[in-house]
Amino acid sequence: MSRIIQLDEHLSNLIAAGEVVERVSSVVKELVENSLDAKSTNISIELVDSGIREIKVIDDGMGMDKEDIHLSFLRHATSKIKNQYDLFRINTLGFRGEAIPSIASVSDLVIKSNPGDIGYYVHLRANKILDEGIISLNKGTEITVSNLFFNTPARLKYLKNENVELANVCEVVDKLAISNPNVRFKLTNNKKVLLQTNGNNDMKSIIGNIYGVESIKNMIEVTGEKNGIKVKCFLAQPTVNKSRKSAITLIVNGRDVKNYGIMNSIIEGYDTYIPVGRYPLAVVFVNLDPLLIDVNVHPTKKEIRVSSEDLVKGLITKTIKDALYKSRLIPEIKIKKEEEMFINSEKEIKYEDKITENLSYEKQSFLEEEIDTLEKRIPYMEYIGQYAGTYLLFQNENGLYLMDQHAAAERIRYEKYIEALSNPTKVSQDLLVPAIIEVTKNEKIFIQKNNEELKNIGLVLEDAGDNNLYLRSVPVWFIGNSIEITEEMIKCIVESNTIDIKSIRDELAKRISCKGAIKANRNVEATEANDLLKQLSECKNPFTCPHGRPVIINISQNEIEKLFLRIM
Ligand code: ZN
Ligand code: ZN
Repeated sequence: MSRIIQLDEHLSNLIAAGEVVERVSSVVKELVENSLDAKSTNISIELVDSGIREIKVIDDGMGMDKEDIHLSFLRHATSKIKNQYDLFRINTLGFRGEAIPSIASVSDLVIKSNPGDIGYYVHLRANKILDEGIISLNKGTEITVSNLFFNTPARLKYLKNENVELANVCEVVDKLAISNPNVRFKLTNNKKVLLQTNGNNDMKSIIGNIYGVESIKNMIEVTGEKNGIKVKCFLAQPTVNKSRKSAITLIVNGRDVKNYGIMNSIIEGYDTYIPVGRYPLAVVFVNLDPLLIDVNVHPTKKEIRVSSEDLVKGLITKTIKDALYKSRLIPEIKIKKEEEMFINSEKEIKYEDKITENLSYEKQSFLEEEIDTLEKRIPYMEYIGQYAGTYLLFQNENGLYLMDQHAAAERIRYEKYIEALSNPTKVSQDLLVPAIIEVTKNEKIFIQKNNEELKNIGLVLEDAGDNNLYLRSVPVWFIGNSIEITEEMIKCIVESNTIDIKSIRDELAKRISCKGAIKANRNVEATEANDLLKQLSECKNPFTCPHGRPVIINISQNEIEKLFLRIM
């Protein structure tokens, strides 16, 4: 019996939204998703010249008989959607009744398939049958697409160079492999293996295959659930951060998708653990009622809309935050042997690789039950002294610790400011002598217009003529130089063009926490150092400054002894 059903016209019109084939990667994606739908356990993608010359996808799935093969290149035929209701449930991978006909119309296409008894092939060019007949083939399907866009020069021109096409294919296949850990994937270009997974459902090994072994060192695996929504996260350590957002993989109901808000909730979960402008390496699976998902935003793109998006976002951010909160994240420095250093310096390592190569995290301890015992996040350590006027040295049985005094002070202030700004009160303290603050014209107008709101959070400013303001009172929660903090606050408020302090809380706290925090090159005495350590260990995240730089690093005694060749 034929498995592919032709859709009724109404439904066909619903899904006839745009062409599916734009470039090599979209062809690969469509073909592989068809293979997945056919319940394949082995999928091999073989490219010639990055797929511009030839794309071949071989699977061991259910296969098609002669009739199914013929239906597959008719428009609006699909084995997946039977009625309109199904269109709104994307438990299956989507609807690609369009895929084969679209690809066939712009290429030279050979479909070979065997549903288990006899193999059949059809050779098409620009959707015209050139040749067909019985062949010998194992169960499954093999589709070869050559000379893509040969008859549409405009689109052929749109194909970028080989490297760009190949990079896009890799990303597509990487994400398909992650969303289908039970399927064996093999991707080659001109016979060179680019990805190979073993299909044994081991997510960490797949992520390691794709992003390298450093990425899965001490990887955090965590789940969360709320109102029937389930999330499962595989989180690389924050030091394994990347320059591209594509390091984040979002899988909703088994399908790799894009959703701006949900992707951002993952970044937000990493909060200040990661430097500004960098992205975490994270794979997040979300499972929810398919009726909550709207795929019609654009059926061929990966964008989806979720009706209870805020709930999903909140759950993800909280799950990630809690998991990072429970981990001890002091980077441990591994000192390389001379010859290794030599080899590496020749390789021209990128900045991000350098970080991930040199820092591996101290064995992470999950303090599931003991989350309240905060002092365990920063172990007990004894102050030794200050180095270069900037780093505070501590020691304990795990070795030597270096703390960046500015980063530490900034982190402590940041957490205090975040709390104060979440619930700003009127309570203020007067300055003995009002200070003069110099502002721009624009700033002055904005401040005077919003004077009352500023008073409500304890900041009292008055006109002092020209481009000046008198600073009379400051909020009680200001720490340090009131003038510097006020100046920074005015700048931040005017730049964000809002007086709603809560809405700019994070940005504001980041900026004023830097102001007046102990700078580098300042002498720090033992009492102050110990006080910093104590306050730091009370922080929610004592490991990075609000801009994501490390606060404290560790060199184990073992590493030091290796350096002196006391141990080999
Ligand atoms: Zn700073
Ligand atoms: Zn900082």
